[in-house]
Amino acid sequence: LKLEFDSQSCGVSLFLPEGTKPDKKAVDELRSMMQMERSVERMKAEGGFFENPDSSVRRAAVTPDFHKGAGIPIGTVLMTEGFVIPQAMGNDINCGMRLYTTDLKEEELECSLSSLLPEVRRIFFEGGRGIVMNGIQREAMLKDGLTGLLETLGEAVGKGIWRFYNREEQEKELEYTAFRGSLKAGDTEGLGDFTGDPHTLSYDDQIGSIGGGNHFVEMQRVAEIYDGQTANAWGIRKGAVLIMIHTGSLTIGHQSGRINQIITKGLYPKSIPHPDNGIYLLPERGGMDREWRRFRDTTRNAANFGFANRLFLGLMLQNAVENTVRAFEMKLLYDSPHNFIWEREAEGRKYYIHRKGACSARGMEEMEGTPFAYYGEPVMIPGSMGSSSYLLRGMGNPDALWSASHGAGRRLSRGEAIHGSDEEFQEFMKKFHIVTPIDPNRSDLKGRSDILKKWEESIRSEAPYAYKDIDQVVKVHEDHDMAGLVARMEPLFTVKA
Ligand code: 5GP
Ligand code: MN
Ligand code: MN
Repeated sequence: LKLEFDSQSCGVSLFLPEGTKPDKKAVDELRSMMQMERSVERMKAEGGFFENPDSSVRRAAVTPDFHKGAGIPIGTVLMTEGFVIPQAMGNDINCGMRLYTTDLKEEELECSLSSLLPEVRRIFFEGGRGIVMNGIQREAMLKDGLTGLLETLGEAVGKGIWRFYNREEQEKELEYTAFRGSLKAGDTEGLGDFTGDPHTLSYDDQIGSIGGGNHFVEMQRVAEIYDGQTANAWGIRKGAVLIMIHTGSLTIGHQSGRINQIITKGLYPKSIPHPDNGIYLLPERGGMDREWRRFRDTTRNAANFGFANRLFLGLMLQNAVENTVRAFEMKLLYDSPHNFIWEREAEGRKYYIHRKGACSARGMEEMEGTPFAYYGEPVMIPGSMGSSSYLLRGMGNPDALWSASHGAGRRLSRGEAIHGSDEEFQEFMKKFHIVTPIDPNRSDLKGRSDILKKWEESIRSEAPYAYKDIDQVVKVHEDHDMAGLVARMEPLFTVKA
């Protein structure tokens, strides 16, 4: 399906489940986003903004889980030349998925759940994270991501969570992480409070947080294999246990987003009308330009934090499992952002691919030089805490701007989901294990209907019926050569903040 908006030179390709119509509110947002071309024309007429005379919106596509966002719809992929639109990567910069394979068996976990789940709660929510760092490490992490952590281990070695951090393994994992988990930034603007004293080891309450809403840490069992060859190469067998992690850059990312908004708005010429939707662009400039440099640094600080946050959540889960089940092997398959801006070079030109709630799904040729050269980029599409999630391999469909969905997408708003059917909710709760910050069965919570109601609402708003049918979303990827199915997973338990 292709949408053409009048007055615009480029249309938008929509990849949606057969027989479904695009959400009207989301299409309105899309239309308004495409007005960006008008800002470009106006700024060109003013002169002095763009270094690249060909600056323009090149193309856009939307993924099968397309739905309304705040300003720009979720599932939007936008290709530009000569400028970026910071808001087109969403608020949670480098929100993404991380997937590990393990040598655990589903039976082993099932019979240990009664001790494992309370331990997970203790580690994730009751002060058990153990992420101790000094200011030097935090600064290195923000400026150089996972490489920064590797280079500043120092006195933290062997303390707290670092007992599960193995230097050689971590170096190997970089190859299985988009951008090798490291984006070099020159500065850490406004983040002094977070980094703290350079030489004092301390904990903070931010890193190692799952974040609210649809973020999660989940152990899954492989229920079905569709592509034996790829599954085999990736270490995935039926009945195997996987760990899927979904989180982003928390308040660090929101702060970066605010800085980007100030930069772009401040740059916009006062003499011409501002865009109605409050979405601004930032012209690409040589390395010395102050605005461009601030944008790059602040965006990269957030992205680096996101990679590190997912890494720590993985180590925390490892800690919980090793304390209650056994020592086990955990191998990273892939870590990939779904809120970010990628650079893409073709025929001597440089483009920016913005993805907000969409992931990169490059095919084999484009993965040359990585461990995925013979398979394509791993694509992780979670469903919900009570449905299947899928693993696919990217096929690099250029019409979809080399992208895929990052989830099922919401069907009901949070408010609607809270007031969903009691029956469905009870059925879901009987079948699935959810670890939340509070244990509703705690004896001191008896009669605390205020607390229990809040707890129930937070689960209801994320219940399976709040999301679209994941099977339908995944099918579009196969039908349009966006990505090929590798395996289907089912949740063993889900950790939700
Ligand atoms: P988003 O990145 O837009 O915040 O969410 C990504 C997707 O994650 C959602 O569209 C939904 O399909 C999926 N999702 C939300 N919560 C859970 C969960 O607890 N477990 C799994 N497996 N998927 C979830
Ligand atoms: Mn996300
Ligand atoms: Mn997020």
